[in-house]
Amino acid sequence: MDTRDDSAMLSTEQSSLLDPTMCIAGTDTIASDSSVLSTEASHPLKVYLRVRPFSKAELSNNESQDCVTFENSEIVSLRAPKDSSTMKNCERGIGQSVHKFTFTKIFGEDTTQAEFFEGTMKDLVVSFANGQNGLVFTYGVTNAGKTFTIQGTPKDGGILPRSLDVVFDHIRGRQYVKMNLKPYLGNDVMKLDPAQVKQEESMKASLFSSLKEDGMKAVVSSSNLRSLAACEEASPDHAGNEQNQFSAWVSFFEIYNEYVYDLLDQFPTAKNQKRPALKICDDQLGTSYVKDLKWFNITSTEEACKILQIGNKNRSLASTKMNQQSSRSHSIFTIRLLKLNHGDDPGVLGVSEMSLCDLAGSERCNKTQTVGDRLKEAGNINNSLLILGKCIAGLKQSQNPKKTNYVPFRESKLTRLFQPFFCGKGKACMIVNINQCASTYDETLHVMKFSAVAKQVVQTIQPRNFDFMSPRIVGKDGKIITEIDANMSVEDLLSEDEDEELDISVVSAEDLLKKIEELKEKLMSERQSKLLLEMQIRKEMGEAMYQQMVHLDETWSKRFEDYQETTEEQLENRLEMYKKAIKNHAYRQAMEELEEDYVPLEEFQAEQDKVEERDRRIEELEIALGLLKQSGDNEADSTSGVLDALTKRCQDKEKIIIGLKVQIQNIRDEADFDRRRLTEENNMLKQHLKIKEQENQGLRSLTERTIQLEASVAERQEKLDESKKHVSAVDISEPKPKKGLFSSLKNTMTGTPKKSKSVETPGGATGLARKKPLARK
Ligand code: ADP
Ligand code: MG
Repeated sequence: MDTRDDSAMLSTEQSSLLDPTMCIAGTDTIASDSSVLSTEASHPLKVYLRVRPFSKAELSNNESQDCVTFENSEIVSLRAPKDSSTMKNCERGIGQSVHKFTFTKIFGEDTTQAEFFEGTMKDLVVSFANGQNGLVFTYGVTNAGKTFTIQGTPKDGGILPRSLDVVFDHIRGRQYVKMNLKPYLGNDVMKLDPAQVKQEESMKASLFSSLKEDGMKAVVSSSNLRSLAACEEASPDHAGNEQNQFSAWVSFFEIYNEYVYDLLDQFPTAKNQKRPALKICDDQLGTSYVKDLKWFNITSTEEACKILQIGNKNRSLASTKMNQQSSRSHSIFTIRLLKLNHGDDPGVLGVSEMSLCDLAGSERCNKTQTVGDRLKEAGNINNSLLILGKCIAGLKQSQNPKKTNYVPFRESKLTRLFQPFFCGKGKACMIVNINQCASTYDETLHVMKFSAVAKQVVQTIQPRNFDFMSPRIVGKDGKIITEIDANMSVEDLLSEDEDEELDISVVSAEDLLKKIEELKEKLMSERQSKLLLEMQIRKEMGEAMYQQMVHLDETWSKRFEDYQETTEEQLENRLEMYKKAIKNHAYRQAMEELEEDYVPLEEFQAEQDKVEERDRRIEELEIALGLLKQSGDNEADSTSGVLDALTKRCQDKEKIIIGLKVQIQNIRDEADFDRRRLTEENNMLKQHLKIKEQENQGLRSLTERTIQLEASVAERQEKLDESKKHVSAVDISEPKPKKGLFSSLKNTMTGTPKKSKSVETPGGATGLARKKPLARK
């Protein structure tokens, strides 16, 4: 293979790595790129069912309740037992009590290990011997028979020792016994130098020494030999080409709590020492492999079985010393077969790989009631199985060309390692193990539903034999010996390669310039590749984040659904309880009432008679009442006459009272009138009195004036008299009487009236004469 071919293939493989859906859904794209894939085959994933027999204890515990019925060799019915949640749900109208499932083939409880192997593994092992990769995984709850199916017992081996038997029979007489060609990374082979070979041999010896001599016996049955014959026929390169040699290597590891542990590594002896966890890496073709995994060369099934035992021992050591549960880990046993050409120093024609995976129990973690670390461990194991379920579902969905679906292979260690088998790199088959116990029915149904989805996955397998893709042989320093560039190691393709330092003093200027040009070019291409890598990483990171979110979302919705389910169940139960309680209560009440109301017949009769008697009496009384009413009417007639007379009298009296009232009113009116008249007269008199007083006042002031005048008159009279005397002396004649106002006033005041014409007033007072008399009142 030259460099150009390799890079072309690399891009194809890488594209399928980046977008796992392309492996299935987008096969057209790949096929158009590569003529190698043009004849790829598609067929549904093979899913086999194996039902194990009941144990004695299970039979005595009433676990046998006809839950599993075989319709034919491909269809099985599951019937929910009465105490299962499936049945309870069904009674509430959720789901059905009977489910039917179809499998590639069903193997009942009487199936022997040989029959099972013959019916399931033949094709796969034949393909493996011919260079095809293969994967087998068992799925089921703990105690369903997964380990029994893969490993079997020392006397009656499972599919693993039987497959190895077929392989060793196939390569019998053509085994390459030197250990100097060893599997390396994903698909390559490392050529070991004599020292390394020695080391390899001593490692194998020390591994085997750790095991007592009670190892498993290889099982070579006649049926296996028949398989071998089929294998020989199927092998296209076997006939007429006896020179090919084969070298077989095995590894055994487990994935526990999302950590990969080598089961063939020395178990740590120190007390608190942890088992070293291995990394999963991708080779330059994008195929994931377990880095630093130990591979042991084997030459027989016996050796393989010993190795299996050692691994099992380490696994159980971990379960006791490290407090781990082996049923919660996935164990993967892998065989790599190197096909070599003839000779002492052969070239490698091809590498094929077959993995047998004993998955962890599929029971859900809420049943195990784990806490703390246990919970975490249970959670992670479930995570691996959950992702496997998602991948299977994703693969199934991506068969619909209208849907682009993401298959989350890279979300768990397990699916990362399984991915190539679902992307055309080999045949995969699934073995579903179930028991028929009534107590684990719900979990078994879960397993069957998972299988039903897996059954619908269509596998696309690239035709592949040892000639399809020659592996590279690398030296002990990791440098490729056979191809591309002798100065490049396979790991150089994965990690940064460092240039060897040059002694420039011995290099000409021309060569140096040339070197600089070369380096410049290299730098450019390096930059380009780094850019591509960066883009790839970014894309992967984005996808990883997206996956995480999708995963989170799913986890939460699942949790929510579970919660809803349990709550509904609880409420439903409670409701049922209340209903029952109410019914009971009502029944009790009714019974009590019945008891209270119970009367003997004689008493009832007597009561009845009493009632009749009473009714009769009532009738009589009613009649009497009628009579009484009539007499009452007559009495009422005379009473009404008296009443009329009385009313009349009353009316008369009333009339008299009204008349009297009128009279009183009249008298009152008259009295009022008199009172008013008197008041008026009184007022007039008062006024009159006032006027009189005023007149009086006027008269008094007049009197005073008069007195004054009189005094002055008297004075003048005296003077006059004097003058008269004086005059008489002169004249003896009498003076004439004076007339007028003064003289009359003088008369009035002195009271010695002489002949005057003064007016007398009624009050006797004198005053000025009035023209009118006082108005009469
Ligand atoms: P798992 O690995 O699924 O937990 P095992 O393989 O340990 O289950 O099987 C549980 C028990 O049932 C073991 O004792 C095993 O021997 C027995 N058993 C399983 N399958 C069969 C079978 N087909 N015939 C008889 N016994 C079986
Ligand atoms: Mg097991």
